[in-house]
Amino acid sequence: MMAASATLIKEVEKLREQIRKHEYQYYVLDAPSVSDAEFDRLMNKLKALEAEHPEIVTADSPTLRVGGAPREGFQTYRHTRPMMSLDNAYTFEELRDFDRRVRELAGRERVAYVAEHKFDGLSIALIYENAVLVRGVTRGDGQTGEDVTPNVKTIRSIPLRLDRDMLKKLSLPLDIEVRGEVIMNRAAFASLNHQQEAFGGKLFANPRNAAAGAVRMLDPSITASRKLEFFAYYLLANGRVPLKLHSQSLEALTKLRFKASADFEICETIEDVEKYCTKWEAKREKLPYEVDGVVVKVNEASMQSELGYTSKAPRWAIAYKWAARQATTVVSKIEFNVGRTGTLTPVALFEPVPIGGVTVSRSTLHNMDEIERLNIHEGDTVLVERAGDVIPHVLKVVKHGKEEKPVRVPEKCPVCGTRIHRVEGEVAYRCVNAACPAKRKESLLHFAGRHAMNIDGLGEKIVDQLIEKGIVKDFASLYELKLEEVAALERMAEKSAQNLLDEIAASKKNELSRLVYALGIGFIGERTAQLLAEHFGSLEKIANAKLDELTEVNEIGPKVATSIVDFFSEKANRKLIDRLRDAGLRMEEKRVAPKSSRLAGKSFVFTGTLERHSREEAGALVVSHGGKVVSSVSKKTDYVVVGADPGSKHEKAKSLGVPILDEATFEKLIGRK
Ligand code: AMP
Ligand code: ZN
Repeated sequence: MMAASATLIKEVEKLREQIRKHEYQYYVLDAPSVSDAEFDRLMNKLKALEAEHPEIVTADSPTLRVGGAPREGFQTYRHTRPMMSLDNAYTFEELRDFDRRVRELAGRERVAYVAEHKFDGLSIALIYENAVLVRGVTRGDGQTGEDVTPNVKTIRSIPLRLDRDMLKKLSLPLDIEVRGEVIMNRAAFASLNHQQEAFGGKLFANPRNAAAGAVRMLDPSITASRKLEFFAYYLLANGRVPLKLHSQSLEALTKLRFKASADFEICETIEDVEKYCTKWEAKREKLPYEVDGVVVKVNEASMQSELGYTSKAPRWAIAYKWAARQATTVVSKIEFNVGRTGTLTPVALFEPVPIGGVTVSRSTLHNMDEIERLNIHEGDTVLVERAGDVIPHVLKVVKHGKEEKPVRVPEKCPVCGTRIHRVEGEVAYRCVNAACPAKRKESLLHFAGRHAMNIDGLGEKIVDQLIEKGIVKDFASLYELKLEEVAALERMAEKSAQNLLDEIAASKKNELSRLVYALGIGFIGERTAQLLAEHFGSLEKIANAKLDELTEVNEIGPKVATSIVDFFSEKANRKLIDRLRDAGLRMEEKRVAPKSSRLAGKSFVFTGTLERHSREEAGALVVSHGGKVVSSVSKKTDYVVVGADPGSKHEKAKSLGVPILDEATFEKLIGRK
């Protein structure tokens, strides 16, 4: 490795600056100036340079936002000054009381306030030392919080370093603390729950819980996938407010490239605050994220410190909270919807009732566990809430109806009539018919996706039209499309119609793993599809595999195996695959010729951490010599390779008398040493 030259360091710093600028434009200003592809290109270039010259990696490099290793637990950290909660006001009268108290205590005729959104998330303190982010801490009990630094680093609207010249210009020191709220916006929340639903995971009750959960993940790569945002609303230096006015703090935060408390206003009187509250109560639904009220703060910092704190909250601020919007109504019916991924979702239909200006007539009950938890039946009287979100939900049953008829999951899909499957140990029930009309659009888009069959040009607009006109019903009919049918679609020239057909035809040659993924079998992601294709070598063999043959594949557990067996046990799916085969799709995997056959027929189990190989490398070595890797130890296992801190597999191997190898012996066996 060569030492980094001055020119290289310059080049790398320039790259980082470009990336920081793009992150700022994209995540803070919502105004991207380059394509995703260009952004990825810059990031990959920086990653490559840093990999080649590890000595030039700095703690604030944009490459370090992701990829921190999972941790065992959180360290606690004492706040420079307590993170307090806020007193609440629910009426304008209470707001005026607050204003009167403030004016009396401060001995002033008039006091100016800043009104801002009350973001509904999790408050976080960010510590910058020498203008670099060194720590992110949760509120915790207000005195000490949890150090969640690797997690907050994944939030793209949080700068990893601050502009030193700007700090100087603002007369701020290089060590500052920024406090604000981590939130998940409505779109990210909806897509997270949608995904959880599809995979039978736990549903989050609201964006706040989802955001709080994501920040406290031990594995920061999960936090990174959750699309969180940060709004800054306090600026501190040495535990004190350094600027004269709170509004100046918010302006300074904006200049330092934070997303500072959006839509804040300076209000000269409490009447102006009331106007602000009224205005935003009407508009809150239009915001891309949930807010549950307005925070009102005395603008002058010196007056803030004069007023001080009670034991739990500042005297100079108050949260005006909007009334929860609730009403009672009767459940007229509970029916089941088939979602875009085939999951059956129970839905309660109500006798229509107005809540906060909207007539509510239905609400999702999510899954059977929720029905059990609520103990809800048709005919029950329920309390329904519309929180910040538009989607109402049932809070509780107020009174049971005469007849408490238990809710049953239908045996057949209400849309296509195929038998409903339930995955063991999961809350979700699903229709596994790949051609079920309820999920036609979603499954076609998935099939054509970049990581699946990669059919460029088969986007939402085209798929919508193809379905509407009844030309395409399933994956196989894509391969039967005629030029004149495609050319007749809206905004489709003959040339682009031909291109699309060429793309579709080209997809027939894709590797088997893409097809396995594209079929949209429950729980089968890209990686599992690859494992299956490699292990079995043909779709035929995957389709005919028994449960225990599937679980023999490393990394495939009973849940995934059951889902595969369920899928191929459906006649409709078998027929679909026959048609795909007739259309000429590739259904076999070309095998890489093994390097040797010295391990032919031998099966290996790995446990514990190897020193010189990752699990993948070790597994690939076994395969390249004709052996195979399985996930659990049985009498049939030939070798168990044991690294540091092995799991129960080691014990099992000992008790079954399976030969045990350490890393060095393993290397000898494959002829490495
Ligand atoms: P509560 O949890 O109801 O006691 O409300 C206090 C919390 O509101 C604070 O700890 C912050 O997490 C949160 N909050 C949301 N938006 C703001 C804001 N603009 N200014 C201050 N605190 C806020
Ligand atoms: Zn169906």
